[in-house]
Amino acid sequence: MVDLLPEQTAHWQLIEAKARDHFRRAAISEIRTPLLEVTELFSRGIGEATDVVGKEMYTFLDRGERSCTLRPEGTASVVRAAIQHGLLSQGAQRFWYGGPMFRYERPQAGRQRQFHQIGVELLGFADVRSDVEAIAVAWDLLADLGVGGLALEINSLGSGADRARYREQLVAWLGARADQLDPDSQARIHTNPLRVLDSKNPQTQALLADAPSLADALDPESQERFAQVQRGLDALAIPYLLNRRLVRGLDYYSHTAFEITSSQLGAQATVCGGGRYDGLVEQLGGPVTPAFGWALGMERLALLLAQAGGLEEEGPAPLDLYVVNRGGAAEAMALPLARQCRAAGLAVEIDASGSAFGKQFKRADRSGARWALVIGEEEALDGVVVLKDLRQAGASDQRLTPQDLSTWARTQGLGSC
Ligand code: ATP
Ligand code: MG
Repeated sequence: MVDLLPEQTAHWQLIEAKARDHFRRAAISEIRTPLLEVTELFSRGIGEATDVVGKEMYTFLDRGERSCTLRPEGTASVVRAAIQHGLLSQGAQRFWYGGPMFRYERPQAGRQRQFHQIGVELLGFADVRSDVEAIAVAWDLLADLGVGGLALEINSLGSGADRARYREQLVAWLGARADQLDPDSQARIHTNPLRVLDSKNPQTQALLADAPSLADALDPESQERFAQVQRGLDALAIPYLLNRRLVRGLDYYSHTAFEITSSQLGAQATVCGGGRYDGLVEQLGGPVTPAFGWALGMERLALLLAQAGGLEEEGPAPLDLYVVNRGGAAEAMALPLARQCRAAGLAVEIDASGSAFGKQFKRADRSGARWALVIGEEEALDGVVVLKDLRQAGASDQRLTPQDLSTWARTQGLGSC
């Protein structure tokens, strides 16, 4: 689990602000759910056979002896909330969420145990157009952030019946070659055989080249649906690759599955992933509700943006005013005046060192502030302060009363708002 220091939070805020704006323009509203849920939500909603539920969850008994889990992903919680508050009877819902998720994985670059996602869930949308729209929202956000070198990969997992048929073929095929599979894949033959397709083991991958294909198992209706998704993306000029091995890690997906990957992230290449999950709401006790969603990983996105240099100029928010002050009367004036200026909208830092003016001025310069407010002992006793322009060499200083300062701060504050 990692700390985010101010230099990084400035970047994160930029990403979050962009995301919020894209969601607003796409008429998607924010939902916030608790970090802690009863374990059963995830074991039922994600599936016992998945890595997430099988070995990655932070699960414990609370003081009331209930099994609780720190959320490993957002979808199950959003669906629970929509069911619990009866939102689905009010028509289709468009949600986004953001925040920390927890998975007990092997930490490495782009993979933490507490990580952050931003995600979108469209509940009550059956049409192919919603698949295309949701993918476009993710694609446009990443493009607007300036992340280059991305690839959109898509696949169709077909309907439940398609997958049941395919599963049988695949289990038989894998079973006959179990001795050639890596141990993880061997264990998955009967618990989660589709996930074997997704194996990162090179030998298993080579073997799978001849495995029966899920694409061939799709019935004509599912195939037509997938063709429509592709035509929809074509119409928006969003480029994509067909990846017939792409199966998402979670059990509840059907039909469209997609990932947006970057070649610059090493082994942790997926920035964003999602797809259609028509069965989940019903599985969690709600009405039959087709749905589509995705989640993107903030850490991986921030890594990409840092590599692209797109965040360099986005340091912490700039400072307007640095208060230089020394001596009892001066120091007593500093905070009240700073508060006045802050109330007017300015970003103000007070030098609290009590050190010599020369040292305080050096810090004022280093702070990047536009102005210095200088409060000396003599001026303080006269009830005036000095305003110094730190950017314009040769500009003359202004002597102001607290009243004048307040008026000045209001005009400046309006400008910086
Ligand atoms: P992966 O195959 O990389 O483990 P996943 O299929 O488990 O990903 P999802 O559950 O679909 O991932 O989560 C969506 C996104 O969240 C991922 O594409 C990734 O960007 C991010 N993500 C998932 N797990 C982690 C993690 N442990 N640390 C950082 N980011 C993560
Ligand atoms: Mg994972």
